[in-house]
Amino acid sequence: MNSICVFLGSSTGNHPAYMDAAGALGRELAVRGLTCVYGGSCTGLMNRLAESALAAGGKVVGVTVQALKDKEEFHRGLTELHVLPTMHERKNLMVQLADGFVALPGGIGTFEEFFEVYTLQQMGFHSKPCGLLNVNGFFKPLELMLETAEREGFLKNPHQKAIIRARNPGELIDLMVQKGVSS
Ligand code: AMP
Repeated sequence: MNSICVFLGSSTGNHPAYMDAAGALGRELAVRGLTCVYGGSCTGLMNRLAESALAAGGKVVGVTVQALKDKEEFHRGLTELHVLPTMHERKNLMVQLADGFVALPGGIGTFEEFFEVYTLQQMGFHSKPCGLLNVNGFFKPLELMLETAEREGFLKNPHQKAIIRARNPGELIDLMVQKGVSS
């Protein structure tokens, strides 16, 4: 595994634990020599992730769309910045560039991105691991929703096996690397 794509809030969230987790994940990726792929923004948790990875000597690749770049919502100090015409093309490139995907707390952008790569994995379009960093129990309601869908017969594979989850970045990356090697 050489790179991990991270989906996370463009806002900071209300609790300092969210920014701390984004920073810790950025550092952990850098220390392990893993390239951090993300949406390229200079705001919220996204910014903290990129800043921490860069400060620890890591490579950070941003993948954004022209419309967001035009609004100046991009980080100027990244190792690489890809600018795509549409959100669709942007997501495709993120899937190609990364060997695994992680979501941290965030809003609808984060949910949409995570569920798209998880769906693509379940449909067999890629076999890259997908993980959740459950800071402050943020993803508990999502777990409940998935449990409900599974109990009611709407999930083809048990989500407990399909999605990696951890409470700290080191544990999450260890599990991602293990799963990436075995898949
Ligand atoms: P949200 O969780 O709604 O704050 O959206 C965050 C996710 O949507 C990130 O993982 C990004 O990939 C994408 N996103 C949201 N805002 C931006 C932005 N200004 N620049 C690039 N990507 C963004």
